[in-house]
Amino acid sequence: MNDQVSTTIAPDMVHRHLIGGRSVPASNGEMLDVFSPVDGRVFARIASGTKQDIDDAVRAARTAFEGEWSRLTATERGRLLIKLAAAVEADADALAALESRDNGKPLRQARADAVALARYLEFYGSAADKLHGDVIPYLTTHFIGVERVPHGVTGHIVPWNYPMQIFGRSVGAALAAGNATVVKPAEDASLTILHVAAIAQKVGFPDGALNVVTGLGRTAGSALSAHPGIDFLSFTGSPETGTAVQTAAAQNHVGVTLELGGKSAQVVFDDADLERALPTLVNAIIQNGGQTCSAGSRLLIQRGIFDKVVTAVSERFQTLKAGRPDRDPDLGPMINQAQQRRVQTYLERGQGEGLSIAASGTIAADVPEGGYYVAPAFFAPVPHQSILSQEEVFGPVLVATPFEDEAEAVRLANGTAYGLVAGVWTRDAMRSTRVGRAMRAGQVFVNCYGAGGGIELPFGGFGRSGHGREKGFEGLVEFTTTRTLVIAHG
Ligand code: NAD
Repeated sequence: MNDQVSTTIAPDMVHRHLIGGRSVPASNGEMLDVFSPVDGRVFARIASGTKQDIDDAVRAARTAFEGEWSRLTATERGRLLIKLAAAVEADADALAALESRDNGKPLRQARADAVALARYLEFYGSAADKLHGDVIPYLTTHFIGVERVPHGVTGHIVPWNYPMQIFGRSVGAALAAGNATVVKPAEDASLTILHVAAIAQKVGFPDGALNVVTGLGRTAGSALSAHPGIDFLSFTGSPETGTAVQTAAAQNHVGVTLELGGKSAQVVFDDADLERALPTLVNAIIQNGGQTCSAGSRLLIQRGIFDKVVTAVSERFQTLKAGRPDRDPDLGPMINQAQQRRVQTYLERGQGEGLSIAASGTIAADVPEGGYYVAPAFFAPVPHQSILSQEEVFGPVLVATPFEDEAEAVRLANGTAYGLVAGVWTRDAMRSTRVGRAMRAGQVFVNCYGAGGGIELPFGGFGRSGHGREKGFEGLVEFTTTRTLVIAHG
């Protein structure tokens, strides 16, 4: 969103909520302009969700939860998700084009998101009837069954950076577990979620199982997180908003999964296979323009190879280009003007601290005027206490810091408020396990980083990165609770 005036929008780019299986406008009729980061122009409009809209959506979800949705067996729910997965996969090109325009990510990355969404839906669809409870040995006169049951109505607040993937891991898991859902996409990138929700209606999800209310965080988002009809919340976004969402959830005594930011380190030991590491060291901060919670935004490099690695990373950085997403550049624009300014401010603050830029990429000459492009920057050497080592930039800004030995590497890697992901590069098997296990991070990659998309792998943070786990089977369990049945028989 920015302060540009509205223009004429194609009718198919004017979007309404999906509540109880119906496409409905905001209760007060208000709409929000959607700006494409590619050129800063308005290209779509979404309904500006109100408290009333959230209330309607929660009611619709409750009706589904107490009715048709709960009458389906786990296998039937799973089949619906698998049908949706196939439909999403078949529509991947259209979804990619829409996401690329809405979010600004290069077309191939947007397509990868659509494929990942299909895989999440397939994974959780297939897992729906494999989630079962326990029998506990107890008194000889009693039978004890522990049943895994859905929370009820779950609320999902999604950010703009990976709408499809985050929808897949959170809403996919919640539906597989039998919850009815209300989704609040980010105001800057709602369109693919609306599109997928419309497909879900077509493949036969009962009305109200999946509701989408678009709009601003401070209105629709806060109304959803504070709604007394919500039984569990899943939030992905900034730590500040996470605090607000958890505080609201506490008022209603419901649980919340928080997937927040990161300042993840890749630790490069002097015996690392640099050929293998180098593309990944760079890609981990460039993907989605660095607007990735799990971005590898810090390089910790053993002193003896520091200059060599900095030189090699610099050579790659100099070739990087930010460009129009439809040309599949290394990175597209930032999501909005505020994010562009945020990155520029961090670059200025870093330089204000006296940090030197080892290498920069460029902005392609043919980018449209008004787009939110920034050139990637690589700072080295950067002291551990520097603002660029400690704060999440959420942009294409990489820093490198030297370390002497294993103990210092671990101390630096764990030395921020965050704890989401870590990378370790070494050929020493004993050390890789030792250092990997010393990392305060929800995921640790050794001689790789973010390999294979990670749909099957539990994901989440320590500290300021949040709590709770999504993705993998663990993510499915998160969307359930238990009911223990004690039956006297003797
Ligand atoms: P944000 O917190 O501003 O917004 C996230 C979502 O919360 C949006 O849907 C927004 O509308 C909504 N929201 C905003 N204010 C709200 C409020 N008061 N109550 C309820 N909902 C509200 O974050 P963002 O700018 O969209 O995303 C950037 C941040 O999110 C970064 O810090 C990034 O690291 C983090 N992030 C984390 C993950 C993860 O998986 N850990 C994934 C993506 C983004």
